[in-house]
Amino acid sequence: MEKIKHAHGFCPHCGKAVGGAAQARYEGSPLRTCKKCGGTYLDDRYSEVALYGEPENVHSVMPWLKGAGILLVLGLAAAGFNVALLYFENSYYPMLWVLVVCSGIGILYELWQVIGVKTGRVARAYEKKRQASVARLQDPDYARLLAENDYPVPGEYLKNE
Ligand SMILES: [Zn+2]
Repeated sequence: MEKIKHAHGFCPHCGKAVGGAAQARYEGSPLRTCKKCGGTYLDDRYSEVALYGEPENVHSVMPWLKGAGILLVLGLAAAGFNVALLYFENSYYPMLWVLVVCSGIGILYELWQVIGVKTGRVARAYEKKRQASVARLQDPDYARLLAENDYPVPGEYLKNE
C-alpha cells in the first residue's frame, strides 16, 4: 500500500510552489514529480479522464449555451451601466468596458464550442484525451498506485498483478 501525499499549491516534500492557478483544471495524470526535489505527489487539478464518465458538455450544447447566456447578461449589464453613466454623468468606469470585451470573447468561445459539439470536434478532442488516459492506465503499476490512493480505478486495469 503506497500512500502518496497531495500537493495543495506546494510540493509536500520540499515546499516548492507547484505553479499555476489553484482553480485550474487539466486533463492528465495527477501523479507529478517535483522539479526541485524529485519527489512524487498527487496534484488534484489533474484528472485521469478515463476514470470518470463523459462530461455532459461533450455531446450537449446546453452547458455552452448557458455559459453564453450568463456572459451575455453580464456584458449587457456592464455596457448598460456605463452607457447610463456616460449619459447622466459624462463619465464611465474603464474596467466595465474591459468586462464587456471579455464577455464578448467568452461568448464567441462558447458559441465556437456549440459548433464543435454539432460537428463532433469536441467529442473527437475528448476521445483523444480519453484514449491517452486509457493508455496510461494500462500500466498496471500506475493503475494500482492510483487505486491505492483512492482513485476509482475499474477492475479491468487491476487484473494483471
Ligand atoms: Zn519537492
